Amino acid sequence: MTYDSENIFAKILRGEIPCDRVYEDEFALAFHDINPQAPVHILVIPKGDYVSMTDFSANAPAELIAGFFRAVGHVAREQGLEQPGYRILANSGSDAHQEVPHLHIHIFGGRKLGPMLAR
Ligand code: AMP
Repeated sequence: MTYDSENIFAKILRGEIPCDRVYEDEFALAFHDINPQAPVHILVIPKGDYVSMTDFSANAPAELIAGFFRAVGHVAREQGLEQPGYRILANSGSDAHQEVPHLHIHIFGGRKLGPMLAR
């Protein structure tokens, strides 16, 4: 799948539309999900044109992959989620209901999160 540079997260990265920012560094941007599914629901996106985890893991430079995952862990820690716990999730493709074609990791926390998958 080719990257669509008009997707909403690309626009957020370019500063064309606002976000409720939580954290930013040279590799990643984290912001609150506009439609939260848990008391804490944060999205972390890499600074690069990657559609999905498959695309990112195959094509991103190692420094960006490392920096991105460090940012995910940093945000979880900073939000105080390490204890009592949190969940990360990345939807990829239509079966997973990926809505925005720019890789994003959801961080959920702030309550007991129930079973791993909805039925
Ligand atoms: P996914 O289904 O994994 O692609 O998730 C996309 C997520 O992006 C959803 O949870 C949406 O609520 C969220 N979302 C869409 N537009 C925005 C936005 N402008 N700011 C923050 N979150 C957004």
